[in-house]
Amino acid sequence: MMPGPTESEAPELSVVIPVYNEEENLRPLIEELGGVLEELGRRFEVICVDDCSTDRSAAVLEELRRTRPWLKLVRHTANSGESAAQATGFHHARGGVVVTMDADLQHDPHDIPRLLDALTEGVAAACGVRQKREDNWVRRLSSRIANGFRNLVTGDRISDAGCTFRAIRREALREVPIFNGMHRFLPTILRFQGFRVVELPVSHRPRVRGQSKYGIGNRAWRGILDCLAMRWYRRRCVPAQRWAVERDEGR
Ligand code: UDP
Ligand code: MG
Repeated sequence: MMPGPTESEAPELSVVIPVYNEEENLRPLIEELGGVLEELGRRFEVICVDDCSTDRSAAVLEELRRTRPWLKLVRHTANSGESAAQATGFHHARGGVVVTMDADLQHDPHDIPRLLDALTEGVAAACGVRQKREDNWVRRLSSRIANGFRNLVTGDRISDAGCTFRAIRREALREVPIFNGMHRFLPTILRFQGFRVVELPVSHRPRVRGQSKYGIGNRAWRGILDCLAMRWYRRRCVPAQRWAVERDEGR
């Protein structure tokens, strides 16, 4: 096993994984992910943010960490949602590039090298688009409607906002406001900020263990409000590139 980063050697890559009641998925996930990351030959860390799970997730993660120095654990004291868990992970990440993925094995770690390759110079984020979506038809249809509606309202054109499998430059993440629902608008916000965002197909696997935390009820109405907020944000935000230039000139 390749050693993880020592304290003096900051990792180049940070993988951030929100975890809420995923006890059965964590061992196979960390084993598969560890194999892929070791192959990459870059210094890496994996940050699992336990969003106050009520099952054995915390104990399983603790157990996995014993033999993996690159595995970092952070725990929320209250269940705060996927966006909050991502944000906590971003806060702790030290790599120049941050990969976000779910803990439920629906994202295939073997896609990570392709996500990283797509992050060419000048590109701030490479976002996965689930090619063959392994969810039931109700979820697929509601996603389709949601993506169409959000692109219409926000003026963006993101193919699959619900896919949180992404590689993002940490520098760009500094410009992203944190709010509940942020994880679905991250590529849109980055574009509004003037960053280049690309999309690429990723595989999608069915959720075999544990339960999805979302249904139509807790996604639809909030999603509509969020879209309106993004429309406002698009008009009002101060793009990062602009203030970065002004800041340099003011020196
Ligand atoms: N998650 C979380 N806090 C929550 C809900 C979900 O950290 O309050 C995590 C969850 O464990 C998973 C990811 O966010 O790793 C995505 O959740 P889920 O798979 O339920 O979403 P779906 O894939 O069904 O959209
Ligand atoms: Mg999932």
